[in-house]
Amino acid sequence: MSTQQTLSIIKPDAVAKNAIGGVLHMIESAGLRVVATKMVAMSKFQAEGFYAVHSERPFFGELTDFMSSGCVVVSVLEGDNAIQRYRDLMGPTNSNEAPEGTIRAKYGTDIQANAVHGSDSPESAATEIPFFFSAHELRGLNHG
Ligand code: ADP
Ligand code: MG
Repeated sequence: MSTQQTLSIIKPDAVAKNAIGGVLHMIESAGLRVVATKMVAMSKFQAEGFYAVHSERPFFGELTDFMSSGCVVVSVLEGDNAIQRYRDLMGPTNSNEAPEGTIRAKYGTDIQANAVHGSDSPESAATEIPFFFSAHELRGLNHG
């Protein structure tokens, strides 16, 4: 195992449910460290850029409307094997299929409003982290 960073987004549905603290508590309780975090309101254009890999999918319009419908909380999480560990903590895409103990089981509603995003690979993390965080904002890493 090696130390990795992954991008987390607390999506507008979870922010609307007052679950920012609840999600961050689950992240920290799982032993992942929050090394950068902020609230942002994504424009439709930013959401389309972030989810460009899904631009041909039938749900792309809905997804980018949803992601730009309210504020989100973006964070960089760090830890051993952080990418897979966070995916496991999130649970599957469809919240209705998420096992107990996962973030999506607790705070998600369905396949779209599923509370959180997490990078799915080192390659995704390497593009998703700088999408939201400048080098300046990431400077303090590894000093926690
Ligand atoms: P994940 O977030 O689990 O990596 P995907 O990358 O496949 O899932 O999809 C990105 C996001 O698009 C999902 O988190 C969800 O919000 C939305 N989504 C995925 N599949 C569907 C679908 N069939 N209908 C509506 N929205 C979807
Ligand atoms: Mg994905």
